[in-house]
Parts: sequence; C-alpha cells; structure tokens
Amino acid sequence: MYTGHCLCNTVQFEIHEGIRNIVCCHCSLCRRAQGSVFATNGIVKAEAFKLIAGEDNLTGYASSPSQTRMVLS
Ligand SMILES: [Zn+2]
Repeated sequence: MYTGHCLCNTVQFEIHEGIRNIVCCHCSLCRRAQGSVFATNGIVKAEAFKLIAGEDNLTGYASSPSQTRMVLS
C-alpha cells in the first residue's frame, strides 16, 4: 500500500495496488499543472485509490476529453 498527501496535508490518500505505467510526461498540461518541466504520472484502478481526508476541499475540471484533474478549491 502507498500513502500520500498534498503539501499542506489537507488531502490524504491511499493506493491499494501497485502503480503501473509510471512515466515522466512533458506535455504542456503536465508542465503547467506541476510548475515544472515534467510531471511523474502513473495508473491505478479507481477502486484501488481511496481518499482518506480532504475530499470536500477538492474540485475537478476536465483538462482533456478523457481526464479530470483535481485541485484544492
Ligand atoms: Zn502530460
């Protein structure tokens, strides 16, 4: 199991499976989202990802037709 949280600890999560297809993406959306030259992304099944805290502090937007990015609201 993996655990993680945002920098201020408001949002906390657990991942209950191995992370697949880990890549460093240099697309413009990932660069902008991270404020860096790339973002490290991986894939897990939705049912393996569990928000532990902070769900009410998140809002989502469609960053592309198949993806929703979540940010602190
Ligand atoms: Zn990308």
